[in-house]
Amino acid sequence: MNKAFTRTETSSPCLANFVDGKFVAGGTPFENRNPVTGELVSMVSEADAGVVDDAVKAAQRALKGPWGRMSVQERSAVLRKVADGIMKRFDEFLRAEVLDTGKPASLASHIDIPRGAANFNIFADQVLTLSTETFQMATPDGAGALNYAIRVPRGVIGVVCPWNLPLLLMTWKVAPALACGNTVVVKPSEETPTTAALLGEVMNEAGVPPGVYNVVHGFGPNSAGEFLTRHPDVNGITFTGETVTGTAIMKAASEGVRPVSFELGGKNAAVVFADCDLDKAIEGTMRSVFANCGQVCLGTERVYVERPIFDRFVARLKEAASGLRMGDPFDKATTMGPLISQEHRRKVLSYYEKAKAEGATVVLGGGVPDIDGAYANGSFVQPTIWTGLPETSAVVREEIFGPCCHIQPFDSEDEAVALANDSPYGLATAIWTENLTRAHRVAAQIDVGITWVNSWFLRDLRTPFGGSKQSGIGREGGVHSMEFYTELRNVCIKL
Ligand code: NAD
Repeated sequence: MNKAFTRTETSSPCLANFVDGKFVAGGTPFENRNPVTGELVSMVSEADAGVVDDAVKAAQRALKGPWGRMSVQERSAVLRKVADGIMKRFDEFLRAEVLDTGKPASLASHIDIPRGAANFNIFADQVLTLSTETFQMATPDGAGALNYAIRVPRGVIGVVCPWNLPLLLMTWKVAPALACGNTVVVKPSEETPTTAALLGEVMNEAGVPPGVYNVVHGFGPNSAGEFLTRHPDVNGITFTGETVTGTAIMKAASEGVRPVSFELGGKNAAVVFADCDLDKAIEGTMRSVFANCGQVCLGTERVYVERPIFDRFVARLKEAASGLRMGDPFDKATTMGPLISQEHRRKVLSYYEKAKAEGATVVLGGGVPDIDGAYANGSFVQPTIWTGLPETSAVVREEIFGPCCHIQPFDSEDEAVALANDSPYGLATAIWTENLTRAHRVAAQIDVGITWVNSWFLRDLRTPFGGSKQSGIGREGGVHSMEFYTELRNVCIKL
C-alpha cells in the first residue's frame, strides 16, 4: 500500500518520506508529539543524505518527463484536482493538523485546511493569465528586430517550511512552483510533518506524475534541511522561518549562486490612535496578539496606543484576553491552543521571566496556566500583557512568538511612526484610526512589507506578501510568486 503511515502490529505508526511517488523509509525515526497532551502522534522517518539525494534526482527526472511536456492548461487542471483532493479528505487533514500543532480545530477548519486547498486553485488560475513583454526595435538596415520574453520553470525547488501554519504555508509555495512547471522537494517542519506527507497521497490520486512532489522529513542542521539546501542540483530555495535560519540557508545557497525567496521573522507593531473605533481595535488586536497562541509571523507583539485612550485600551484588552479558553482543541469552546512544543514553551517562558526581571507591570498572565488532567503535559502558557518596559528591553525588541504583547503609550503621530519603525524587522503593521488621511500618511511611512488599516490578516492572495529589512527577501502572492518560480528568457529575432 502506498500510504503515508506504515504500521506493524507491534510498532507505533511511522510517517514515511515521499520520493518519486512512493512512500519510503529513511534513517532513524524520530518522535512527533501532540503539544496538547504530550502524547506520541507517530514516529517519523528521518531522511538521510541518500534519501534527500534520491528525492532531488527524482525531481530532476520529472522535469523531463510527462510533467515537463504538459501544457499550462493541463497543469492547471491537475492542480485543481489536488485542491479537490484535499477538500475531499478535509476531516483527515484537519485531524492531522490539529494533532501536530495543537491549535483549535475551529481555527484550522476555517484557515489552515481550506486555504491549503485554495492555494492550488488560486495559482491554477494565476498561471493561465501570466503575460510577458515584447519590444520592437529599430536596426540600421531598417528591417528591425522583435524581442519577446518567455517564462521557463527554474527547475527543482527546495521548499523549507515552519510549523505554525504547516499546510497553508507549504502549499503557498508548492502551488505556484508547480503551476509554473517546476518540481519540488519539501522539507516540512520536524514538529508538523503529517499534512505534507498526506499531500503525497493526494498528489498520486490527482495524477501528478511521480517525482514532481517529494517530501523529506527531518531537522535543520546536519539533517534533511541542510542536505536539501546544500544539494547542488536544487535550483532555487524558498523558505519560511526564523531570520537566523534564513542566514544559514542563504550561506548554503551561495554555493552555486542559487536564488532564494525568504519569509522570515517579525516583531510587528500595532499603532492605535485615539480616534480609532475602540471596539474594532480591541477585536483586531485580540486576534493579532493571541490567534494561534501568538504563533503567527504577522502577529502583534508591540502595541503603541495614543495616551488619551491608553488606560482604557489596556483594561479592555485585559478583559477580552481573560476570556480566552484553553483545553481540548476539538471542543468549540476552546479559543487558544498550546505552544508548539515544550522547547518553545521554555523559550517563551524565559521572556516572561525577563519581562519581570526588567521591571514590567504584568497586566495579565505571565506564567503557566493551572491545567490538569489530560492536558497537564501540554505546552500551554498564559496569555500575557505587559506595560512599563523600556523600548530597549529584550522583550520589546526580540521576536517571542507567543501569546503576549507589550503596550506603550505615545503622544504624537511622528513618535508613533518612529517607535513602530525602531526594529530590525519589517514584516507587518496594523494601524487603528478612523481618520483616513492619517491612515494613508502613516501607512506610507512604516517600513514593513504589509500594512493593515482597521484590520489584521485580511488577505487578498493576489497582493504582494513579504517582509522588509530582516523579515524577508522577495514577495509572494499572485504574479509576485510567479516571478520567483520562473525565469524570463528573452528571444531577439532579427527581421
Ligand atoms: P525555523 O527557522 O526554526 O525552522 C523552519 C524550517 O527550517 C524547519 O523546517 C527547520 O527544520 C528548517 N531548518 C532549520 N535550520 C535549518 C538549516 N540550517 N538548514 C535548512 N533548514 C533548516 O522556524 P520555525 O520555528 O519553524 O517557525 C517560526 C519562525 O518562522 C518565526 O520566526 C516566524 O516569524 C517565522 N515565520 C515567518 C513567516 C512569514 O511569512 N514571514 C510565516 C510563518 C513563520
